[in-house]
Amino acid sequence: MTATTPALEFSTTYSSTPVPAQRRAQILADPGFGSTFTDHMITATWTPEGWHDAGLRPYAPLSLDPATAVLHYAQSVFEGLKAYRHDDGSVWAFRPEANGSRMLKSTARMALPSLPAESFVEAVDLLVRTDAEWVPSGGEASLYVRPFMFASEVFLGVRPAQHVTFCVVASPAGPYFSSGVKPVDIWLSSEYTRAAPGGTGAAKCAGNYAASLVAQQEAIEHGCGQVCFLDAVEGRWVEELGGMNLYFVRADGSIVTPELTGTILEGVTRDSIITLAGDRGYKVEERRISIDEWRDGVESGDITEVFACGTAAVVTPLGRLVWDGGEVSTGDEPGPVTQEIRQALLDVQYGRAADAHGWMHRV
Ligand code: PMP
Repeated sequence: MTATTPALEFSTTYSSTPVPAQRRAQILADPGFGSTFTDHMITATWTPEGWHDAGLRPYAPLSLDPATAVLHYAQSVFEGLKAYRHDDGSVWAFRPEANGSRMLKSTARMALPSLPAESFVEAVDLLVRTDAEWVPSGGEASLYVRPFMFASEVFLGVRPAQHVTFCVVASPAGPYFSSGVKPVDIWLSSEYTRAAPGGTGAAKCAGNYAASLVAQQEAIEHGCGQVCFLDAVEGRWVEELGGMNLYFVRADGSIVTPELTGTILEGVTRDSIITLAGDRGYKVEERRISIDEWRDGVESGDITEVFACGTAAVVTPLGRLVWDGGEVSTGDEPGPVTQEIRQALLDVQYGRAADAHGWMHRV
């Protein structure tokens, strides 16, 4: 994208059949995750002439020709961010420009067109503002916003699509932990990897998630909630979970997160925690951490807490690390540092603490 790429102009067509207020209230009372959607969506089309036909319109199914390229070659990226209702009723998105710039990196890797980050933010704003009544209040509920872009050209040749669709939909989300924050057990995958050097690990592309599902299934079979992937070259370095980054709390009070190597997704939550933990006086290190350091550190007491982080679950304490032949555990209650960081981040997101870094974006 160059500085002169024009921002998109959005038309608006409101739904003539919005969900009745009473039904919406029922949904918002217990929204779960990702299964109900607001009254509107954003769509825009790209062809070699550029972006056009951007607009807000009623939420509706997309009609796709069976030969639509994305269905065959998965040329597709997505984003995930949340909007929060503050006590005064105002609605705020958390760092939407960070998601907009990450999508630019993902689209570059997947040979998809660049969408200017300002248009990304404008699209999110327009949808969330229009459907603001869908932003839940109270607890840890929020409106999950899902921008995505895919190859909508009807063509079976393997090349970058010449017709691409950008969409944004939104879905009310309840608290991730509805009955209190509980540590999640982790299965260490030795058979599968998530990303290799030169591959797509740092892009938020659809195929990464398809490829992680069988490992996730294996985790469930072993009684674990999530899977941890190691690097693909040496099978030694801790990378991340299927959809969350990792943090280790050490007995000396320092905090370690695997460094970005090009095979890890740059989480917005991960980045925010580096700053927040630093603000709170923790020494935060971004470096490689081996699976032996994790296992031995938990056993020796050098690692006292492990947590995962991401938009959906904010900060999730980890309990057992299970592998073929053994396990170690940091306990079945969330540790104090995990809880402190979790609370600090939620306080900013829900407007209970000062937004020292300008992360909150009023919609
Ligand atoms: N890693 C992966 C593979 C993910 O899918 C996600 C979720 N986007 C994350 C980490 C966490 O990223 P974020 O904090 O931006 O949600």
